[in-house]
Amino acid sequence: MDRKTEIHNKLLKLVKSDNVKVDELLKDHLYTKLGGKADFFITPTSYEEVQNVVKLSNEDDIPFTLLGNGSNLIIKDGGIRGIVINLKYLNNISSDGHTVVAQSGARIIDASRYALEKHLSGLEFACGIPGTVGGALYMNAGAYGGEIKDVLDYAYVIDKSGKLVKRLASELDLDYRTSNIPDRGDIVVEATFNLKPANYEEIKAVMDDLTYKRESKQPLEYPSCGSVFKRPPGYFAGKLIQDSDLQGTNIGGAEVSKKHAGFIVNKDNASTTDYISLIEHVQKTVKEKFGVDLEREVRIIGEDKE
Ligand SMILES: Cc1cc2nc3c(=O)[nH]c(=O)nc-3n(C[C@H](O)[C@H](O)[C@H](O)COP(=O)(O)OP(=O)(O)OC[C@H]3O[C@@H](n4cnc5c(N)ncnc54)[C@H](O)[C@@H]3O)c2cc1C
Repeated sequence: MDRKTEIHNKLLKLVKSDNVKVDELLKDHLYTKLGGKADFFITPTSYEEVQNVVKLSNEDDIPFTLLGNGSNLIIKDGGIRGIVINLKYLNNISSDGHTVVAQSGARIIDASRYALEKHLSGLEFACGIPGTVGGALYMNAGAYGGEIKDVLDYAYVIDKSGKLVKRLASELDLDYRTSNIPDRGDIVVEATFNLKPANYEEIKAVMDDLTYKRESKQPLEYPSCGSVFKRPPGYFAGKLIQDSDLQGTNIGGAEVSKKHAGFIVNKDNASTTDYISLIEHVQKTVKEKFGVDLEREVRIIGEDKE
């Protein structure tokens, strides 16, 4: 039996067969609509299944990668070796007093809307961020003056050894678009947000205003990964790109958005190579013109196509 069949058979003993896919095309799961295939793509339905897969990965030396909603990821055209874990079926959201508890596969937008329905304030900033709760914790997602760090009380994670562990927000080193989740190799499975009771109409007015701002400024009609670059200290990435006359520049099907200079859109069937080449071109041009290094916010993972 070859190794791939062997791993497949082992996965089928741990996760329901409908939830184990082989050679899954990842572009269908990514906001950018870019990326090759995953050897295995699994969608566990319990924490125990996730724990068992982590243990299998340790015992048989099989790499795994977490995929949330794919809104902050570029996956290369050669795809991902090993197991891609997607927690979309672990998406329950509940509330207890002033807290909202969300499983990590829930969309942070849904957690924000749920908080509104419960008349709880604090997650308004997240009402247009198209990621999952797990992806939002991973990079301390934020917008319009708010961020996960402001509202997260604690999270449950599955650690490298497969144990379910509680981590307080203060233990996650949450900072501007970063956390220690990747360094620790934790898988976030649940988050508890501490919110404040407030008036429904007031919360809704803030969310409506942020939605209007987002829709009027961002090129939401095209696939993208949102803001490609972090805000460099003392500057705005979008302004530097705009002042470098890069808007409308394209490589293959990838284009620096004419609507929002901080976005690169997949305008016409771009390959990952086009997209990455355009990111590098923007970084090089801005460095030459203004001497500023643009650090990527978006993560690039996977293998080059042979
Ligand atoms: C149109 C658009 C607008 C955006 N606007 C904003 C914005 O205003 N503010 C902002 O901060 N971001 C924004 N983003 C970026 C993105 O939505 C956020 O970074 C989001 O938090 C990513 O979540 P995700 O589930 O899509 O993660 P993915 O892109 O799937 O993954 C991102 C990283 O998180 C890891 N990960 C995912 N789930 C888990 C988990 N359960 N446990 C451990 N690791 C995990 C992945 O391995 C990967 O390394 C925007 C993106 C788009 C496309």
